[in-house]
Amino acid sequence: MISAAHHQPATDLAHAFSRSIVGFFPMLLVLALAHWFGPLLTHELPQSLSGLRVWGPAMVLFLSITLALTFNRGRMVFASLSLAGAYFMYQLQLVHVDAFALRTVFAAMCIFVPLNLATLSLLHERGVFTLYGARRAFAIALQVALTAWIVIAERTAVVDGVYDLVHSLPLPSSPIPPVALLLMVLAAMVTAFRALRTRSALDVGLTGALAAFALACHSVGKPALFSMYVGAAAGVLAVAVLQDTFRLAFRDELTGLPSRRALNERMLALGHHYAIAMVDVDHFKRFNDTHGHELGDHVLRMVAAKLERVGAGRAYRFGGEEFAIVFPGKHMREVWPHLEALREQISAHHLTLRAPERDPAKQGRPGERPPVSVGVTVSIGLAERGERLTTPADVLVAADGALYRAKHKGRNRISL
Ligand code: GH3
Ligand code: MG
Ligand code: MG
Repeated sequence: MISAAHHQPATDLAHAFSRSIVGFFPMLLVLALAHWFGPLLTHELPQSLSGLRVWGPAMVLFLSITLALTFNRGRMVFASLSLAGAYFMYQLQLVHVDAFALRTVFAAMCIFVPLNLATLSLLHERGVFTLYGARRAFAIALQVALTAWIVIAERTAVVDGVYDLVHSLPLPSSPIPPVALLLMVLAAMVTAFRALRTRSALDVGLTGALAAFALACHSVGKPALFSMYVGAAAGVLAVAVLQDTFRLAFRDELTGLPSRRALNERMLALGHHYAIAMVDVDHFKRFNDTHGHELGDHVLRMVAAKLERVGAGRAYRFGGEEFAIVFPGKHMREVWPHLEALREQISAHHLTLRAPERDPAKQGRPGERPPVSVGVTVSIGLAERGERLTTPADVLVAADGALYRAKHKGRNRISL
């Protein structure tokens, strides 16, 4: 087992935080647009466009459901369906203008939607047309049925009870029932925590959708604003699905680095000055054979984390235990110190293992074994664009040749 392997210096935390901010950016943009332009549209919407108030959010909901279905993002399908169910039930009651029905549906959506979004953020992706998907769909249908039953059976006491629950707390004044307000805060904490943990666009999307939906409920007195925020909630989900799909195509799953495909695109866009380094883990086959594939994967993630922070360049997973770093606008002499620092950092990083040996019968209890310290080194080949090497592909091949020389000279070194 790995123990006390990861120290996280402050700079790493700052780095993680800045990456989270970047991940949150599209969601914040959608929310900000809704916030600023919502009130504007409330006043300025010409007569001919007034249908947008009802059908605008419906169209965005349709888009997010379609996108989520297309890319088989089940959690997003059900998040969108939950929003859609709430929105359409509410619009339906608006037409009937039945005060009790409206009150009931509003309370139900203020409770069920945050509950669903928070639950979905904690669940695994398990598809749409699967047993799990059926269960999730059933849960949403049950919520709708329960709400409809309360309306039809006129259970006024239940609804009054919901509105009166936890009235004693000093909560901000809002049309949202206090108990639902508390639930929203709790749900927002859950989704935001998940988003920071997983850094997945989908979890960020769920957080954003929840925020937008809470704002929608709060603005329920102004129908145009309500619609705008519901549309924003659905929009955030749609954007999240697209972001996640982009990541699938251009990010390496194991290390989180940009993938070979991203490298190929980047190479096509390089200018006249650049250097490329090829990095390969030394004797990695032996490491895997000795310590197991799982620890091998762990080491690859460690190496990738260091590569990601290399100065002046961008690292890609080339394949297996090989990485490429592209330094746009740089000469070899400028990047050499960065690579040297990288090489040293990796060789200085040690994992402390209390290895459970293959055959526990022979070895006694694992806890009795003395801890061992293991580490890896990397070899690096470097090349730059010049007279002879005129294309990125040429430079890459030259860097690979240099890597071969670094290996030959004894590994754990940089070569030109
Ligand atoms: P050298 O110092 O010459 O580079 O020796 P090496 O053993 O690192 O070189 P080789 O290319 O023969 O072996 C690469 C090994 O990397 C093979 C495979 O076991 C391991 N490997 C490739 N991809 C992964 C991966 O995703 N996870 C793990 N754990 N191991 C991988
Ligand atoms: Mg190797
Ligand atoms: Mg290799």
